[in-house]
Amino acid sequence: MSSSSDTQLPAQLLRQEIMSLHAYHVQPSPGMIKLDAMENPYLLPENLRAEIATAVAKAAINRYPDAGAVGLKEKIRAVNNLSADVEVLLGNGSDEIIQLLALALAKPGATLMSVEPSFVMYKMIATFTGMNYIGVPLTDDFALDLPLMLDLIKRHQPALIFLAYPNNPTGNQFDRTAVEQIISASKGLVVVDEAYYAFASDSFLPQLGKFANLLVMRTFSKLGMAGLRLGYLAGSKVWLDQLEKLRLPYNVGVLPQVVAEILLQHHEVLLQQAERIKLDRDWLFERLVGTVDVHAYPSAANFILFRMPHAAKVFEGLKQRGVLIKKLDGGHPSLADCLRVTVGTAEENELFVKALQESIHQFS
Ligand code: PMP
Repeated sequence: MSSSSDTQLPAQLLRQEIMSLHAYHVQPSPGMIKLDAMENPYLLPENLRAEIATAVAKAAINRYPDAGAVGLKEKIRAVNNLSADVEVLLGNGSDEIIQLLALALAKPGATLMSVEPSFVMYKMIATFTGMNYIGVPLTDDFALDLPLMLDLIKRHQPALIFLAYPNNPTGNQFDRTAVEQIISASKGLVVVDEAYYAFASDSFLPQLGKFANLLVMRTFSKLGMAGLRLGYLAGSKVWLDQLEKLRLPYNVGVLPQVVAEILLQHHEVLLQQAERIKLDRDWLFERLVGTVDVHAYPSAANFILFRMPHAAKVFEGLKQRGVLIKKLDGGHPSLADCLRVTVGTAEENELFVKALQESIHQFS
């Protein structure tokens, strides 16, 4: 049994900004059509699963993992065609890399800048690490407000800028030239977060040699490995040698290393799934655009943001029908009445569209 002094103790000891935070919320989803978290909806082909099962059975889980993950890093370099002067740092998901970067750059008074709305962990991690945070508003159609961004960079001199390219939760890919101008204008480090690269038409990986203050971060979560927790940061040795010092020695376990290596040997399977998802995204976009009162935003990722009247009720209506998507309404003000749906299998997408239409009927 806990006494009142026990319950007061955390409040006495914890930093006020941690007490004020809301935890990252993950909705329960058993038995639901899960279109809330940008996962790849496809399982792997039977032969590949058998290959993984054999490799996992042989894996030495009594030992610590290869701390340098040499084999895995080589495969990552190969599938991305990284040049010899580009280094790779691995994270337990790219979330962990965001945290590592913030820890590394959190000098007293240092600022982390991103845009809003964007991936909420940038702001949360700024708070964890005691950095000042500036979220620069996007324009009404979720484009970069370049003059405002350049002005705020000049005034606040952020040590670290995150730009998700394509952006989450809006799905759009920012204007490339604007991103380049931001990198050029910034004296701090700019990290282009390419979590959704597999569904996008552009990348900053080729720019790595051109800007001394640019790093590119990616994750395998959206490509079909969300359960493995594996992200990576690519950039020059000058940066990555320093950042490696903050990486906890065994942050990527034996099993994720073994499985990801096999999957990258069969990279084409995942890329084909991504191609399928892109086609289905286009199908889904057309359906949303054709739905009365729905405003859908074009997406270069594996999800679509849309705005509609009574979004919160429609979200509940979808849930009642067994379809879980993401409710953004109630979060950032510019996402009022917004919902976000992840592209699922063709069948899941059809069920979503049907459930959406029924829910709209119910609440109109
Ligand atoms: N960056 C962006 C833009 C994201 O949307 C996400 C996941 N929602 C992440 C990073 C983190 O992905 P993970 O930790 O699974 O690699």
